[in-house]
Order: sequence, then C-alpha cells, then structure tokens
Amino acid sequence: MNLKSLRQSFNRFYTGKRKTILRGTLTGLIGTALFAGWWFSSDSNGIQQSVGIEPPKQELGALPIVQPTLKYGFALDTFQVFENTIHNGAFLSDILLRHNLSYVDIERLASNAKPVFDIRKMQAGKSYTVLTKDSTQRAEYFIYEPNVYEYVVFHLQGDMEVTKVERPITTETKTSAGVIESSLWKTMTDQGMSFELADKMEDALQWSVDFHHLQKGDEFKLVYDQKFVEGKEVGVGKVSAAIYKTGEKEYYAIFYDNGKESGYYNLEGRPMKTSFLKAPVKYSRISSYYNLNRFHPILKYHRPHYGTDYAAPYGTPIMAVGSGTIIAASYTSGNGNFIKIRHDETYETQYLHMQGFAKGIHAGTHVNQGDIIGYVGSTGLATGPHVCFRFWKNGKQVNHLSLNFPPAEPLSEADMPAFSQLRDQYLEMLKNVEPKFVVESEDADTSGVARVGNP
Ligand SMILES: [Zn+2]
Repeated sequence: MNLKSLRQSFNRFYTGKRKTILRGTLTGLIGTALFAGWWFSSDSNGIQQSVGIEPPKQELGALPIVQPTLKYGFALDTFQVFENTIHNGAFLSDILLRHNLSYVDIERLASNAKPVFDIRKMQAGKSYTVLTKDSTQRAEYFIYEPNVYEYVVFHLQGDMEVTKVERPITTETKTSAGVIESSLWKTMTDQGMSFELADKMEDALQWSVDFHHLQKGDEFKLVYDQKFVEGKEVGVGKVSAAIYKTGEKEYYAIFYDNGKESGYYNLEGRPMKTSFLKAPVKYSRISSYYNLNRFHPILKYHRPHYGTDYAAPYGTPIMAVGSGTIIAASYTSGNGNFIKIRHDETYETQYLHMQGFAKGIHAGTHVNQGDIIGYVGSTGLATGPHVCFRFWKNGKQVNHLSLNFPPAEPLSEADMPAFSQLRDQYLEMLKNVEPKFVVESEDADTSGVARVGNP
C-alpha cells in the first residue's frame, strides 16, 4: 500500500461515513412517531424542496391512514423545508438573513445559544434545515446537526429558545471476519467493515500483533459492539474479542472488566498490555529498518541506521510507546523536531523529524502509553514524511523489533471463573464467523512508496 492508495482509502472511508450520516438524517424520528416515506436529494444545494407525501389513494372499503412525516419533532408536511449544508466561510447570520430574520433577532439568538451550543463551532459541510411556513416570511426554525448523535433546534419566534437534542444510541453485539488481501484497512473496508473497526481491532491487539508485518492470507475474527441511532449504524463501540492468525501463530484478545480494572487479556488471562507498543504510529509502513550498514539516501554513503522509520502522511499522530517522562523536546539540524522519553532506569525512546509537538508536550511532561506527543513531518535530514523511531537500552541504541519483554502478571484466581466463562462465550461466537471473500479489483500494491530516509 502506498501513500496515494492510503489517502484514497481515507477518502473512501470518509465519503462512506458521510453517506451513512446522510442516510441517518433521512430517518430522523422522535420518540415513537410513525414514519412515512419522505425523500430529499442528498446533493441539495439550497433549492427549495417541496416536502410532503402524496395523500394515500382512497379505495373503497379502505380508510386512509394519515401518517405525519416527522423529523426533529416537527411535522414536516406542515412546513416548507430547506435542507442544505454549511458552506465554507458561511455564518449563521448569512443563512438566517436570507430567511428574513433581522440582525437584532440573530444577535438575540446567538446570545441565547451560548449556554447550549457555540455557534462559532458550526462547520462547513454539516447539515442544517430551515423550516418556514411561507418562504416570503420569516423562518420559524433552524436546525443544525453537528453530528449524527445530536442536533440543535433554534426557535426563531417567541423567546428565541435554543435547545440541544441527543438521539438515543443503542448497541448490538456483532461478529466479523476477514482475510488480509493487502493492507488491514483495505481488507476491512473492501469486506464491508469500517475503518473505525480496523482501528479498534488494532487497539485490542496492538501489543501482540505487529501491524507493520501483516501477511497476505492472515485471518482475523472479531466480536464487537455496533452502535445505532434510529436504526442506522453510526459507529463501532468496544471490540470485545479478537483473534488474529498469521502463519502458524494465533493471537487472542479478550476484553474483561472486573469492576476495578479493565483491558484485554489473552486466553490464559494475562494482560495483553505490555510496557511498550509495537510502533509509535498507526497505519504506517516501515520504510527503513535498524541496520548497522545502511546506504544513506541523502548523504550517499554507508553509515549505521539506529532507528526504524515509519512512513506516514504529514500530521499523523505519533504516540508515546510507553509511559515515562519527556527528557527532550527540541530541534537539531539532523533530527529536526524530536522528542526523547525516559521510561525507567533501563529504557528510553526517541522520535525524530516531527512536524511539531502536541499541546503541552515539553521537557518534564509525564506521558502515558499511547498519548499523542507530536505529528509526523520531515524536519531535519529527511526526504519525506516519516518518524524515525529509536529505542535506547542502558544508553545504547538497539533494534526494538528484536526485543522481548517479560509477560505481565495474569488475572487473580478470584477473577478466573468469570473470565473463563466470558472467554468461552466469545470463542463460541468466533468459531461460527466466516470471512467474506471479495475479488480484488485493484492492483494490490504492497511494494512500498516513495523512498524516505533520514540520518
Ligand atoms: Zn531513521
């Protein structure tokens, strides 16, 4: 997978997600209201749409059943409805002035909105709806949807109230399985799963599976929570169980919560979480290994490469692989912006060529494993965006990919009966999941991307 297809995958994901959200808004129902067929064009561009349903044809012996079309708690067929998305650089006032509100009204509305919703946070591309009785008159309601989970109703009459409504979320346990065709997320999105699910699976297995070394033919199976709003899939909750099979090896992650602690455990009840993550960036590709005799791409001579390079797009978050204290957050001409973390008396890690540091990150900051410390860049001696990751053991740089750390302590005897029961339940569910195979239409490029290098 190269950077181009990586971006395409991102785009595909976001486009796909946006469609889901749009579909989600189509069936905005409040409470137990009945839903009657209602349609609007998702690429509406502000043109007034006559919304309303054809009255059911009355037939002899059949009584008409009138079902109001409800959305945001309003009977839409009694209004003229304008559906649109916020344009780049547009303000609430621009929209409302077009619908015959005065500046005084808008100011009052903005001040009423303050405790409920910050109108400056309206984003380009998000949906809004204007309800009016007559387009030549002042609009009655403006409804903004910051996300699929909630919407904000601006009452444009009377007290000019502003209210936020949260849509109830329900979850359902689901299972999924797949076989790696090229990259993890390409496989998952091609097989009808979401990027978000790939992300959560990576979270569950990040300590045991090196996602930079996936093999064609690797298999995975998952038990996870699917979130729904008004009957539409809106996101992935927790991954409860995961199996990842690569070659002869199988890795298991079972989520267990004993009320005090929670996390992922292997089949024997040992925590999956180890002192260090396998890599400091997700969805990246190793572009250069630790190598004591490497030909340097910029300097054009052989010299040791004491790190592992992870190529990823500019701005990709870089995580602390373990908890510790930042001992350097600075700049040199070779390293560019870099961070060094001391984890304990033995280990330190270092991250080079960053675009910038995360907020609040400086020498002396304590960080936890997985905290974002900065963003991928190409500062210093680097030909492309990547992070050069260096692992120090007792003051010497070592190859972290060849290190083995002792396993963590298992769950207590008292936890084991409950854990085993849960584990067996998940394993039974996983046993029955079959991967969905799809025919690869694209050329699966696993050969690599534009060369990146660094000191
Ligand atoms: Zn490097």
